Amino acid sequence: MTGIASALPIICDPEAKERKMNAPVITMIPQADPGAGYRAQKAEIDAAVARALASGWYILGKEGAAFEEEYASWLGTRRAIGCANGTDALALILRGLGIGPGMSVATVSHTAVATVSAIEMVGATPLLLDIDPDTYTMDPDELLSVIDHPPPGLPPLRAVIPVHIYGQASDLEPMLEATRAAGIALIEDCAQCHGATLNGAKLGTLGTASAFSLYPTKNLGALGDGGVLATNDEALADRIAAIRQYGWKERYISDMVGVNSRLDEVQAAILRVKLTALDAGNERRRAIASAYDAALTGGPYAPPQRRAGTEHVFHQYVLRVPDRAAVQARLKEQGIGTGIHYPVPVHLQPAYQGRVPLGPAGCAETADAAQEVMSLPMYPELTDAQVERICVGLRSLQG
Ligand SMILES: *Cc1c(COP(=O)(O)O)cnc(C)c1O
Repeated sequence: MTGIASALPIICDPEAKERKMNAPVITMIPQADPGAGYRAQKAEIDAAVARALASGWYILGKEGAAFEEEYASWLGTRRAIGCANGTDALALILRGLGIGPGMSVATVSHTAVATVSAIEMVGATPLLLDIDPDTYTMDPDELLSVIDHPPPGLPPLRAVIPVHIYGQASDLEPMLEATRAAGIALIEDCAQCHGATLNGAKLGTLGTASAFSLYPTKNLGALGDGGVLATNDEALADRIAAIRQYGWKERYISDMVGVNSRLDEVQAAILRVKLTALDAGNERRRAIASAYDAALTGGPYAPPQRRAGTEHVFHQYVLRVPDRAAVQARLKEQGIGTGIHYPVPVHLQPAYQGRVPLGPAGCAETADAAQEVMSLPMYPELTDAQVERICVGLRSLQG
């Protein structure tokens, strides 16, 4: 008998049970919460899914075509083409432009590895450039210098992919000018910037073409994988539309070598619903960012810098925190989740280190930033009470 009693100490000790019940319950505010986006539009999304399922047509049908039309019209480009994910959107653009082996493509190391993997998927050589440490986007001066003085041994530079990281525009003007003059394509990686603007123009409308990820946590997120690319070049759009489905123009006849990268009808139907909430969601993200800015005022961590002429959409709200691990732990104690985007730059990851060419700056600012960046919770469904709790946590870092 004593054996059983000692095996169940908590149940047999009424005081211990009471102590447990009186402990304060801190619910964790996650750094990202894609389920909240579904719950916010559940009835409409469920109806859209039911409609797509009942249609009996699951790949490249009416929902996909309608989403492409609605996205192009929201963005302001002639064409938008759905595909399987954001990585494929970049690779399809490169393929559509005829970029492959024996050519190089410049991008940044401070990005999701997807940007670099898309370049290698088509057989091209990535050239990794450094960032401006205040906005984390490609340093245009380094790009201009490699266009004028290509690193020896590098295959000819055919395209550049600036990444509008965290939801803010890269310093595009000088890059657009230099790439136009040199006859190089400029492909915008818009995976984190749906709706952001530069001098009043939407990002994704300024380069040769643009690639958007529709991964669940992105500002426009599917409930599964998805991607969409956009361009004003009709001929390029027609080529890519064929390439995404085996190079078919006519069914079963490949006009050119293609791949399979399609957006399915269920995701397209979901995305049509979610697109209607995108602008309001971005507005809410900006309001949350302003609240964080105010809570940080006077403290040791400066709010993220906004580039002049840009409207940020805060895919992420990112601080530079030299004592990052300690700060993450202090916030976690208060139930506040944080993230790191990204902990190891691409050029220092095992698959790439010592293998991919770097620009003359050697990605030094990129390596520094990776040690210090920290992302706060950021999604439109954060409640005012949650935002207030996060602000209290931020103010507690001042002491
Ligand atoms: C998410 C992301 C991608 C890749 O998108 P997937 O849909 O996951 O393939 C590419 N570039 C950047 C900057 C991203 O954040």
